[in-house]
This record gives sequence, structure tokens and C-alpha cells, in this order.
Amino acid sequence: MAGEFGNPEIVEEEVDILLIGGGMACCGAAYEIMPWAKAAEGELGREFKIKLVDKAAMDRSGAVAQGLSAINTYIGTEQDPADYTRMVSNDLMGITRDDLAYDLGRHVDESVHLFEEWGLPIWKTDENGERHDGSKGLPSLADGGKPVRSGKWQIMINGESYKWIVAEASKKALGMDRIQERVFIVKLVNDKNDPNRIAGAVGFNVREHKLHVYKFKACLLAAGGCVNIFRPRSVGEGTGRAWYPVWNAGSTYSMAAEAGAELTMMENRFVPTRFKDGYGPVGAWFLLFKSKAANAYGENYLVKNADMLDQYPPYGQAAVPASCLRNHVMLKEMKEGRGPIYMDTVTALANLRETLSPREVKHLEAEAWEDFLDMCVGQCGIWVGENIEPEKKNSELMPTEPYLLGSHSGCCGIWTSGPEDVGAPTEETEAGVPDHLPKGWNWGYRGMTTVQGLFTAGDGVGASGHKFSSGSHAEGRMAAKAMIKFVVDNKDHTPELDTPVDQLMEEIYQPVRTYLEHKDYSTAIDVNPNYITPKMLQFRLQKIMDEYVAGVATYYNTNDKMLEVAEYKLEMLKEDAKKMRAKDLHELLRAWENYHRILTAEAHMKHIQFREESRYPGFYYRTDKNFVDEENWHCFVNSIYDKESQKWTVFKRAHVDLVDKSK
Ligand code: FAD
Repeated sequence: MAGEFGNPEIVEEEVDILLIGGGMACCGAAYEIMPWAKAAEGELGREFKIKLVDKAAMDRSGAVAQGLSAINTYIGTEQDPADYTRMVSNDLMGITRDDLAYDLGRHVDESVHLFEEWGLPIWKTDENGERHDGSKGLPSLADGGKPVRSGKWQIMINGESYKWIVAEASKKALGMDRIQERVFIVKLVNDKNDPNRIAGAVGFNVREHKLHVYKFKACLLAAGGCVNIFRPRSVGEGTGRAWYPVWNAGSTYSMAAEAGAELTMMENRFVPTRFKDGYGPVGAWFLLFKSKAANAYGENYLVKNADMLDQYPPYGQAAVPASCLRNHVMLKEMKEGRGPIYMDTVTALANLRETLSPREVKHLEAEAWEDFLDMCVGQCGIWVGENIEPEKKNSELMPTEPYLLGSHSGCCGIWTSGPEDVGAPTEETEAGVPDHLPKGWNWGYRGMTTVQGLFTAGDGVGASGHKFSSGSHAEGRMAAKAMIKFVVDNKDHTPELDTPVDQLMEEIYQPVRTYLEHKDYSTAIDVNPNYITPKMLQFRLQKIMDEYVAGVATYYNTNDKMLEVAEYKLEMLKEDAKKMRAKDLHELLRAWENYHRILTAEAHMKHIQFREESRYPGFYYRTDKNFVDEENWHCFVNSIYDKESQKWTVFKRAHVDLVDKSK
């Protein structure tokens, strides 16, 4: 029977593996999984049942929706995975899992080779050192072609259709009958007979009145990072504009936390410095066009404030200082009134003009525009609207509001099992780690969280970072293989949901019920003492986080007292969140996205509160502990959430270097 608003059709389905999300990580898993499934059919005794659900349409979903102009992780023949591991560690102030980074470093290139095989144009350098956007008949990377590197790890692409290309290959590999788009997963459901095992997930269709209930043995939760928990710099009609995608709403972290999975480094955040208002990328300008940033008086603050970097050894003294510290020296200029900060595009292009022919200069200017057109078309709108020609006028830079992610230049996420052969500690003495959690860094299946059967990849995997699009894809592929093994090893297990379907339905449709019950109380639909609109609730969350948890309002400062206020206000907000209304399916989506955001925000706040130092100066400061304390805090901060008591347990895990960092 077709459902109607408030009375959805319930669709129940049992599969072996559910892939949640259709972004880079799940596209990797979708591409990889079928050959392994086919090979293991004999052991399972039947065909595998696999399904992928995405809240959006895979062709343009997730962080790569707009396209990208560079692949940021390509090791190639010139680099080595151990060096990559060192870079990841330094950029994230020393607290990362070397096993995860090294493993990624040795696998990631294969994904890039696949992208090229599927038609992604990758810029190449010919034998004369001349660069070509698009392959122009030069050998592919897999056949020894030389990529145009914009940095040590980055390669340039014509990537406006990057996501489309990657999604197409995944759809083809998995088959459209195994893919369901526009299904938003609201929560995971634990197993009735084992609370530390995952048994299902429940969500709803954002276009039709259908509630979807999935049962499974294993699932890949890769629903991206978290955006819009902090008040964005954009206001009014620009509010939807953010740097990371607004549709990454913390689903990965919150659903994993509610299922009992251990989170790690949730205090970490990324505050990118980007072209002001459009959030346009700066990487190509810094790395490819050799542009410099300067304060309003033309001073290069990285040089001027170099001594500030020495205060954070070794992270500030590396050839490329940690990203947060680069913000740190810039913020000094802004706070002391020497802003705005500018990207000196005029000098950069003038310098290049000295060595290049007019034709090459024209080409370069086209590349500068294309950099935006490929991945952030809105920035072109700003340049056009403000009459900015980069060769004639410099552009303002601005540190953005904070974002939570585990695949880009951040490392918050879920604690996952690493590879078996990279020598991670297996029985670290980990006093304070709750008993039921695994000790050491490998507990059998690569990418599995501390909950049996629950895997993650991309933004979901914490304590690594700098995986970017290619690494997230590779991580999804690794998880796919591990999940097949998990299902075979658990083939006799029958998943049973710990909550009846009717109860799940009532819970998910509560915002609709609230609306239907109270909608006639007032004459203006948005003004009603019995409910709050998702939009208004989101403003409240953003205000709390901005003003008390080190958002832009306080120049990224917080302290123990401010965190106490935030803790209290978030409690109140959680209570009021139960009064969110949904007048249509769109608002139901917004309501549950907010719910995911609030839990993610709470994790972020609790972790900052627990870590009694300022590990990421330039991203956030605890002004009551404004130092990096290597002696006491060179460790992971991890947490688990108890959904019954709604309480967090936060604790330390020992950090171990597996790669020699002195090199
Ligand atoms: P995503 O690709 O974001 O995918 C998440 C998926 O989950 C989406 O399909 C989403 O629709 C779905 N989803 C979310 N919630 C739910 C839910 N509750 N239920 C069902 N589905 C859900 N990488 C580079 O290599 N080079 C770059 O230059 C680069 N620059 C970047 C610039 C910007 C502005 C951004 C936003 C990203 C950039 N990246 C870059 C990083 C790269 O895009 C990410 O690292 C990568 O996409 C992360 O993959 P993921 O699968 O974890 O998340």
C-alpha cells in the first residue's frame, strides 16, 4: 500500500551488507565488493545480498559533488608511504595512527589509476617539462605518465565531473538494482542478542512516504563529515554556502556513537583558510602559482611571525608547518588589526610572466579560473561580481567556521581496526579504556569499528586524515574486502533488531506527529509554542557552538568555563530538539540532520573539555590551557556514548609511533 504523510509504507529488507552513503568511500566499496563477494559465494553457500543507500543522488552526492581540481593524495613513484605517514602525523600535530596512514599510502594510487581508466582527465608533464591539462595522448599514470604536481602529494585534474565518473563506475560494478538513492538513514539498530553488534538500520525516503528498515550482518557507515554545527560566516541568502558540503550532517559520527562505537579525536577540527565569501580553494594558488599571502600592509606573515612556529616543535619547524599553525600566525595579524589578509595573486602572476611567453601566461590565467570552475563555481561568481581580475587585483583570504571531518586535513572520527601487518601494538597497557573495548590497533577486520559488523571509511575513520578523495575511495575498497570476510566468518549469525519496527517508526516520525497535532494552534505556521522549526533549532545550535566552543565569534577561543556553559546549553537544546516539527519530508530530513549534528557537536565539546591543552593552535585555543603539553597529552582522546543514559565516557589511549618521525 502506498504510504501518505505521517503514515508511511514500511519496507523491510534483509541483506548481508548495507553500504550507507554514496560518496567517495562508498563508491570505492561499491566498485570493489562484487568480485570478492563472487569469490566467497562458495563459502557462504549462496549469493551475497548487498545494498547501497544514499540520501542524495550518487552522481553529485557528498563532498565531491561540485567536482575538484586536484587529487590530493597520490604517492606515485617519487614518494613513499612512510614519508606520507610522517606528513600526516606532522600536519595533525603528532597524534595520528601510523598503521592507518601507512596502509592507505600503499594502496591509494590504485584508486587514482582506476579514475584515469574511467575517463578522469589527469594533467601530465611531457618529456620537455611542458604541462598539459588533460592527458593529451600522454601515457596514463599506470603506464608511467608524469602527473602535474601542485604539491608533493597533490596532482592536478580536470575534475568538474569527477564524482559523476567515479559514481558511474560504482553503479556499473554494483548494479542499479542494488542501489537505492534518496534514502536518509536516521539510526543504526543494535542486535537484540548482542548489544555490541550491529543488526540493522532504519531511514526514510525523502521523496516518497516510505520507511525503510534494513537488517544485515555488516554495514559500511560512510556518510561523510559534519558541517553547519558552527554559525557560518555566510549570512542571509548565502547561509547555505559553506566550505565542506552542507549535506554532511554528522550522520557518521552520531549514528556510530549511538550504536556504541568508540570515537577518537573528536576534539580535532579543520578551519581552512579560503578565498573570502566564496570559500574558493587556495591550494593551486599557493602550490602551483607560487603565490604568497600577506597582511593588509603587504607583509608576509609566515616569514614575519616565523618565531611563533618555533614555539611548537617539531610541528611548526617542518618544511611545511602544520596547517593549524599556519592559521595561528595569520590570526595574530587579524587580531592585532592588520587585516584583511590577501592572496597576492598580482605578484604571483607578474613573477610568472617574467619567465613565460604571453601565450603561456594566457593559459595560466585560464588555469586560475578553471581551478575555481572545477570545484567551487561560486568563487567565480564573486570574482565576476566584484570585478576581480587576479592579475590586477588581490583577493581576500579568511579562516572559515570550523568543520569536523576525518578524510581531509582533519582527523576526528571513529576508532577502527588497522591492518594486520603494520606492527601496531596489540596489547598496549591502556588503563582507563573500558573493558569491553579492544586493546591494541587491530582486532581482525580492516576498517571495523569497536562494534561488531559496523565498518567505516573516509571521513568516518578517525586519527588518520589527509586521505582526501582518492584515499577515501581506497579506504572504502579495503573495507569492502574486510566486510566480505566478516560476513563469511559470521555466516551462521542471524541479525535481530533490538527495537520493534513500529517503535522505530514512531520515533522517526515524531516530528511529523508533533506538527500534525499542533499545526492548527496558531495562524502562522512557523510561530507556535508547541514546536520549533528545524531551521530555528539549527540557529540555536550554531549560536551555542560559535559563542562558547571556539567559533569565529571568539576568534576560536574557549575555556573551561565557556565549555561548562556550552555543556548546559546543549543539554537544553537536546531536550528542545524533541519538539522539532516536520511539516513535510524535507523538514523531516532537516530535523534528523539536526539531531545528528547536535550529538556530533556534543562529542566535539566533550573532547575539547577533556583534553587539557590546546593541541591545535589556529584551529582552537583553550585559553585556560594555552599550550601544547607533549608530556601529558601526546595521546589519543577517545570516547563512547551510552544511548540509554545519554552520557559520554571520555578517556585516553596511548599513542605509539610506528614510523620513525626523526627523518
Ligand atoms: P562524502 O564523499 O562526502 O560522501 C558522503 C555520502 O554520504 C554522500 O553520498 C551523502 O549523500 C551520504 N549521506 C550523508 N548522510 C547520510 C545519511 N544519513 N543517510 C544516507 N546517506 C547519507 N579531495 C581531494 O582529493 N582533493 C581536493 O582538492 C579536495 N578538495 C576538497 C574541497 C572541498 C570544498 C571539499 C568539500 C572536499 C575536498 N576534498 C578534496 C575531500 C574529499 O571530497 C573528501 O575527502 C571525500 O569526499 C570524503 O569521502 P566520504 O565518502 O567520506 O564522504
